[in-house]
Amino acid sequence: MYSFNTKKYFSVPCLFFFSGANRLLFAIALLLAINSNAQDSLPKNYFINPLDIPVTLAGTFGEIRSDHYHTGIDMRTEGREGLVVHAVASGYVSRIVVSPYGYGNALYITHPNGYISLYGHLSKFNRKITNYVKSKQYADEKYTQDIALAAGQFNVEQGDTIAFSGSSGGADGPHLHFEIRNARNDDPINPLLAGYKVVDNLAPKIKGIALYPLNDSSTINNKHEALYIKAEKVNNRYLLAADSNINAYGSIGIAISCFDMADSIENRNGPYIKVLKDNGDTIYYTRMNVLDFSTIHFINGHIDYAAMHNRIDTLEYSFLQDNDKLRIYKKLVNKGRIYCRTKKNHTMEYFISDFNGNTSTLAFTIQGDIKKAKVYKDTAKFLAVASWDKPFSYSSGGMKIQIPAGALFNNMHFRYSLDTTSSNTAISPVYHIQDANTPLSANYTLMLKPNPYLPDSLLKKAVIVRLEGKSKVSVGGKWDNGYLVTHPRIFGKFMIAIDLYRPVIKPVNVFKDKDMSKDTVMAFDVTDNLSGVGYFKGTIDGKWILMESDSKKNWIYYTFDDHVAKGPHHLRLVVSDEVGNTTVYETDFTR
Ligand SMILES: [Zn+2]
Repeated sequence: MYSFNTKKYFSVPCLFFFSGANRLLFAIALLLAINSNAQDSLPKNYFINPLDIPVTLAGTFGEIRSDHYHTGIDMRTEGREGLVVHAVASGYVSRIVVSPYGYGNALYITHPNGYISLYGHLSKFNRKITNYVKSKQYADEKYTQDIALAAGQFNVEQGDTIAFSGSSGGADGPHLHFEIRNARNDDPINPLLAGYKVVDNLAPKIKGIALYPLNDSSTINNKHEALYIKAEKVNNRYLLAADSNINAYGSIGIAISCFDMADSIENRNGPYIKVLKDNGDTIYYTRMNVLDFSTIHFINGHIDYAAMHNRIDTLEYSFLQDNDKLRIYKKLVNKGRIYCRTKKNHTMEYFISDFNGNTSTLAFTIQGDIKKAKVYKDTAKFLAVASWDKPFSYSSGGMKIQIPAGALFNNMHFRYSLDTTSSNTAISPVYHIQDANTPLSANYTLMLKPNPYLPDSLLKKAVIVRLEGKSKVSVGGKWDNGYLVTHPRIFGKFMIAIDLYRPVIKPVNVFKDKDMSKDTVMAFDVTDNLSGVGYFKGTIDGKWILMESDSKKNWIYYTFDDHVAKGPHHLRLVVSDEVGNTTVYETDFTR
């Protein structure tokens, strides 16, 4: 299976044979490209490897993730946690983050040459930083932290042990998430530009392409719909599957599905450079050198979002939508769109390269059609036209929507309907807002009104949920003027739901009067049915203790330390969900 959002972190040897014919040419092209564009580069050999093992990658810079671009590299850690993490250059710790989500335990180091290095998913920090963070957690009585620090407090020399690798936060498995950012504007830069050597002699693999009609009169093989074609490797080159003739009329766009692999590593990573040529002329050229956080969600408009959302394939467009603020384009002709208006053939060729210059090619021909343009109008009923470059708002009955300018990728025929027939519409109807296959680059505001006769006691427990198949996914919601208000970055089916159930606390290794003198942690499995766990607090003998949260395992746990002496104790754990339903677990134990 082609992996979508999930990246895997094992090491399984696998052998592929490849042609090195294009490698030299691409290496030269790459060198020229980098030298001609100084702001996309990094000083060479200034930063050392943060790990004591050679760099192998479980994820590359700029690869496509669910709803965002990956802004660093994922360094493999042999499937283990606890590897020493070194400061890649001298500087000072400028930010410490502790969170059950995102980068988990993370450190930022600011270097005097104008860059910041970031180390994510750490299992723990070094002893000095750990003691500092812990005293702050006890002082605040708060587990999550986001601490900004000035120079002088934790200065580091290149090579110092700053932390240990792990899988904290949103990591799918043990690895080190490593970023280098420009300190001036916070833009993440491809760390491989710093000169890290990665053993990778395998060219990227090409799975297939898709072709899309881009205006009302375009056709592909006489149809006004997308055409998906698989690729196959023949004598070291990729070709389209046999008998895949392509005739096209009008303006069309192409997308490619591809991934990179490295020697002895089974991870499917994002390639570095993608080039598309039309009769020998480069019409599209991207390379993943620099991103910025204001545009990382523009990935949603640069892929076949419907194919990704429905888990069909990850197809990256080689053309631009109307709204595109990405800075990954080195060359673009006519926004990558191809015009087929005469019988002229278009000989198309893709060049897909990894950072080492290993390149795969895919060639195919599009035959231009001559014919009278038939215009394919969107005849399905719609309520309004939402322009991508203007704010859009619409209200009807108990629903209001506000989409900011620039959140859509193209002008959109806005569609909305009410479903009052579903089984659980006692609280509110189901609101069909556009459809889940329409991408967004930014959040919009959604306001829903509940049925008017609901008592306040129930309204207090309300959240907006998105219906995904049979499941309800909470998207939160705060009351404002009789509306429940939330800010999703996805369209689809929404309704108001009431969370009446308290979180469930299941002790993992505790029971009444247990002798815990040999245990290192005290852990609880904590889940909630709908709105999610929002707050927790653990006390022993009435005093706050540092309980940590592992969002992947659903664990809340305390690691025994000198806050608990030998002898009998009383533990109290309070957990609330996002709407305030609260569960308390209490027990006696000895230490
Ligand atoms: Zn990462």
